[in-house]
Amino acid sequence: MNGYIGKILRVDLSTGELWDEPLNEGYARAFVGGSGLAARYVYDVVDGATDPLGPANPLVFMTGPLVGTAMPSAGRCSVCALSPLTGIWGESNTGGFVGPELRFAGYDGLIITGQADRPVWLSIVEGQAELHDGSELWGLDSYQTQERVREALGQPKARVACIGPAGEKQALMAAVMNDHGRAAGRTGMGAVMGAKNLKAIGLRGSSQVPLADPDGFKAVVREIVGEVGEDMAAQALQLAGTAGYVDMALMFGDLPIRYYQQGEWKEGGNLSGVLMVEQFQNRNIACYRCPIACGRETRAPSYGLDVVDGPEYETLGALGSLVLVDDLEAVIYAGHLCNLYGLDTISAGATIGLACELFERGVVTLADTDGLAIRYGDAETVHRLIELIARREGFGDLLAEGSAALAERFGVPDLAVIVNRLEVPMHDPRAFTGLAVTYALSPRGACHMEGDMYGVDTGQGPPFELGVIPGDRFEMSEEKGRIAARQQAWRNLYNALTLCQFQNPGVERLLAALNGVTGWGLEMDDLMTLGKRIVTLKRLLNLRRGVTRAADRLPDLLLKPLEGGSEGVVPDVDLLLAGAYAEYGWHPETGRPTEEGLRDLGLDGFIWTG
Ligand code: SF4
Repeated sequence: MNGYIGKILRVDLSTGELWDEPLNEGYARAFVGGSGLAARYVYDVVDGATDPLGPANPLVFMTGPLVGTAMPSAGRCSVCALSPLTGIWGESNTGGFVGPELRFAGYDGLIITGQADRPVWLSIVEGQAELHDGSELWGLDSYQTQERVREALGQPKARVACIGPAGEKQALMAAVMNDHGRAAGRTGMGAVMGAKNLKAIGLRGSSQVPLADPDGFKAVVREIVGEVGEDMAAQALQLAGTAGYVDMALMFGDLPIRYYQQGEWKEGGNLSGVLMVEQFQNRNIACYRCPIACGRETRAPSYGLDVVDGPEYETLGALGSLVLVDDLEAVIYAGHLCNLYGLDTISAGATIGLACELFERGVVTLADTDGLAIRYGDAETVHRLIELIARREGFGDLLAEGSAALAERFGVPDLAVIVNRLEVPMHDPRAFTGLAVTYALSPRGACHMEGDMYGVDTGQGPPFELGVIPGDRFEMSEEKGRIAARQQAWRNLYNALTLCQFQNPGVERLLAALNGVTGWGLEMDDLMTLGKRIVTLKRLLNLRRGVTRAADRLPDLLLKPLEGGSEGVVPDVDLLLAGAYAEYGWHPETGRPTEEGLRDLGLDGFIWTG
């Protein structure tokens, strides 16, 4: 099976059994890999009653067909399960080297079920998998854990995915960490791993991915690498990392400020990526075979740190502008704490932002917080709250449940800026209206990795050939909704390929690379069908979990006009969604995939009868 190692490792932590299973070729052809293929496997075994923190919820690590090949920037790994934060489909993906190393170690993916009765860790070296006692790792931070697993394996170059203390405590926004500070951050996959008592996975190997057309593939890879120097977006990322977008985001009104309620903030410039390069950057960091190298290594001398991983744009927003902290070094340190403890910076920052808002409104008082004043602009309190969340101590125990639970606990559910219980990331649909579709329909809840309309409308590599045409960022029409749905399908295909979204080689070259690896002989239209099929399968999974059309919405605070770069615009969500439903073949009123729509996507056997 070209493009695949052809094996999945199954792990039952309740019994301690490990066994190899051939990769289901039909599933791979239909859902490719990454979160698409993981969703197909998860679909088989979960229902409306499956407890996300229970033994039956499968934790899936999955790569895609390009991973571990010479394809640039294709080294990501999806981590998926039902989410304990949202109760629905959960997925996150991470860069670095764990994806390729999993394939080198001999597997396309891991499916982990059950629950160990004591802490364990898993090693996979050259196709041999083994469970080990993890008692001595329990309690270590994510950096210590990675180092100790490498030592235990006697493999200094092993790659390690692990949880920190936040995952152990099952904070619902806990991340799975790897390659120092890389994170599969969103939807609480670290809590799922913690609930299974699985502290870490160590990987090392030398397997090679079989290629259908090695010469053709090599030629297209050469072209893609050669073009990176001409790609303005890639050059900007190389220069200042994702943090380089802060200034543009401020200009567009795309960077959320003061818990999504302020359109302008002159201090925001203090969080600029250019300043970060000048004052705190040590060097660029690249994931496996990535010529862009958008990652940053920084320092925070005021906190005694010579080396910090990141921060990314999302971290600068969530732990900076959202809580009105404009001290760049303090935000770098906040990101570092999240890396150590293993927390998603977006959900952690957004939940702290909501706590600031509730405290300011007098909804939360000192009596609720053990005397801790939670005020906007107070970096020290942000640092303290990160620790409390990770350790589930005091008020942090409630914050660890996420924004939806916090707002519900204080009787103000409408103040939480969430979609399907997932905290909204650092892009504002008032600045790019197509994002209303992205957030409302994203299978994992509010997600910027499943339809980056801020990239489309600023012309950063949209797939024109597939009908994703950049336009007026404030446009509100059914056609705009259709375009946003196509981009969402396209990025779901990326997440199935586990290809980095900053690598935009053009549709033709990507198609040539995929065919060169797999030999599938796909045509251009097939790519859009694959993306829509993957989105629709995840939609069906969410329907099974009780999601209804009513959940396809934006939170109230994002429907209030702001001054500044978003110019008082508020998206017409229903109009945009009408276009998106039509594009997907979903019923306009129920939002359910129609029989005809499912047949068009080759999902005949998935007719929804619930
Ligand atoms: S562009 Fe950045 S995130 Fe993407 S693969 Fe390269 S280094 Fe990793």
